[in-house]
Amino acid sequence: MQTGTVGIGSVFGVPIRLHFTFLLLMVLLMVFGFNGTESGVIQVLYIGLLFLSVLLHEIGHSLVSTRYGIKTIEIIVFPIGGIARLERQPKPQEEFWIAVSGPLVNLAISLALFIYIGNTRGMEAIFQPSDTNLTERLAYGNLALAIFNLLPAFPMDGGRALRSVIARFRSEAEATRIASASGRILAMGLAIFAIVSGQYLMLFIAFFVYLGAAQETMAASGRVLTQGVAVRAAMVTDFRTLSHGQTMRDAADLLLATSQHDFPVLAGDQVIGLLGRNLLLRGLAASGPDAYIAGVMDRDFPRVAPDIDLAEALPILAKSGSCALVMDGEKLMGMLTSENLSEFLVLRQMGFQ
Ligand SMILES: [Zn+2]
Repeated sequence: MQTGTVGIGSVFGVPIRLHFTFLLLMVLLMVFGFNGTESGVIQVLYIGLLFLSVLLHEIGHSLVSTRYGIKTIEIIVFPIGGIARLERQPKPQEEFWIAVSGPLVNLAISLALFIYIGNTRGMEAIFQPSDTNLTERLAYGNLALAIFNLLPAFPMDGGRALRSVIARFRSEAEATRIASASGRILAMGLAIFAIVSGQYLMLFIAFFVYLGAAQETMAASGRVLTQGVAVRAAMVTDFRTLSHGQTMRDAADLLLATSQHDFPVLAGDQVIGLLGRNLLLRGLAASGPDAYIAGVMDRDFPRVAPDIDLAEALPILAKSGSCALVMDGEKLMGMLTSENLSEFLVLRQMGFQ
């Protein structure tokens, strides 16, 4: 679950969440977006239907990725569109179709609406749209969504499609560099245009394109850095454990005494659970310091094998939050934590690992 988001329900079992910046944009639109010629009802209806179009776009992504056997963890709606967070990174040829499926949904909606408008009100309604007709605005809105998302730059879908095409001829790292460079150029172009033309809402969009390009690049280069590296190389091997007979007070003491956030819980040399900081604090508040940790710990803890690729372990770590236990069969080998992993990646980027 991403921080700074609000859940609004789920579609096909996929939770839909709104990022707070999207809510901010809605407020901005409410304050600045209305002009005197239109009724507020039409405006609200238009924004609502456009939002629905963005959702259908994301559902397009998630349906195509399901076809490749990749589950969608959640859909997050940002001001410049949505993101379908996938369980694992698709392969280059899968990524292409997953990326273009979203914009194709908007293209299909706008095409259907244009055909409807052409049939009922004639061709001139299409080429000389009035501002007040909801169907016309929605047709153009979806067309704009499709074109904007197909721009060949990170973090747009077009950028992902571009990367997957380049990755067929060059290395993934180089493909990522090209897609992210075009993302930064696009963001700067948008920003300059926004300032020159006085369209300050576009400045807001440029900012998000820039932020998204940086984020996407980081995620992609993290993947490149972790490919072909075994979990074993990045795990924590020097750590403290708790015994199942200890109390929450013991666990709290250990949390304070060490810099560790997650503690494997052992019965003999058998791992029976994992006690993370959040769970510890919640358990402490709910059951008090004298309760046994065995009643609070997570028995269904995330685990990874020591010899799998670090790139494969990343989604497991991302899903669990911050920590997974590295288990060779039933034997505890180490811990994989997001903190340690980021240190490992920095070292690797510097050429130390
Ligand atoms: Zn998309």
